Amino acid sequence: MKIAELADRALYGAARVWNRRSMAAVAERDGHVQFEATVAAVTDLNPSMRRITLAAPEFGQYALAGPDEYFGLLMPGADGRLHLPDAERINVRAAVAEMAEEEQPGLRWYTVRELRRATSELDVDIVTHGDAGPGSAWAVRAKVGDPVGFRSGGALYTAFDPARQLFVADETAVPALLAILQERSRRRLPGLGDAVQVHVEVPAAEMLEGLDLPAEVTVHLRGDEDPGTAVLAALTADPSLTEGFDYAWACGEAGLATSVRRHLVSVGMEKRDITFSGYWKLGAARG
Ligand SMILES: Cc1cc2nc3c(=O)[nH]c(=O)nc-3n(C[C@H](O)[C@H](O)[C@H](O)COP(=O)(O)OP(=O)(O)OC[C@H]3O[C@@H](n4cnc5c(N)ncnc54)[C@H](O)[C@@H]3O)c2cc1C
Repeated sequence: MKIAELADRALYGAARVWNRRSMAAVAERDGHVQFEATVAAVTDLNPSMRRITLAAPEFGQYALAGPDEYFGLLMPGADGRLHLPDAERINVRAAVAEMAEEEQPGLRWYTVRELRRATSELDVDIVTHGDAGPGSAWAVRAKVGDPVGFRSGGALYTAFDPARQLFVADETAVPALLAILQERSRRRLPGLGDAVQVHVEVPAAEMLEGLDLPAEVTVHLRGDEDPGTAVLAALTADPSLTEGFDYAWACGEAGLATSVRRHLVSVGMEKRDITFSGYWKLGAARG
């Protein structure tokens, strides 16, 4: 095994220990797969969200680790062609950095909105925000036939058992949230209501058009305020909104995810009963 690979494993092992202590259990894969896929369809769900369907024979056998499974989308880099990094490295970002600069693919993480093994297809719903960042710039131009790389990830939600659950998401985490709710429904677990409560914060209501968000979801509009501002204000103003939950999932912009988690801990929730993830960071590239 190469020294770089050993260093990756040590780093990932340390991160795993930290995660186990500081948040709810996640679903990890033993090994990773990486392969090329092709854009098979592009659908505008609303002015800020594109559904991109990827096709690859490997999706026919792909098994999800969990309902909010994320994956690395590898996009053509500076030379306009797709070059994939060393598939053996567990640290895909380091593997990309080792490539010649003009060949380095863009890499961003997205959620598997739906996997259809029967047709070897996968849908990903991408929030578009212009050309700021390789992910959005790629998504706004994506067309049928474009090549991309798919790098397997893992899943954060494993908490099917806890009775009362609270979910908080921004627009980037709505695909993951909906996939979790669908899986709960498939398993005939309690749906939205007293036991399962959901808060979604978006800049404007039009960002939710075409997403089939259940009517019971509480929507918070933040307008031009920073992500997290509106939902945190609502949760702190009414203690009944955060009382008596056995588990919480808070994903979206980093400020939203961390401030919601901090608030839940301050009102008595155990860190190990909370899943949280900063999906993006306001004013900073995901890197
Ligand atoms: C586990 C996981 C699952 C995710 N699932 C999804 C998903 O299903 N759909 C989805 O759309 N995103 C998802 N994301 C978030 C996505 O990876 C980030 O938004 C990412 O930063 C987009 O990359 P970019 O190249 O467009 O912008 P970056 O290069 O990362 O950032 C460039 C600039 O754009 C800003 N920016 C980044 N994202 C947004 C945004 N959404 N709105 C406004 N400004 C932004 C940054 O603050 C920065 O200033 C997920 C992230 C993770 C970690």
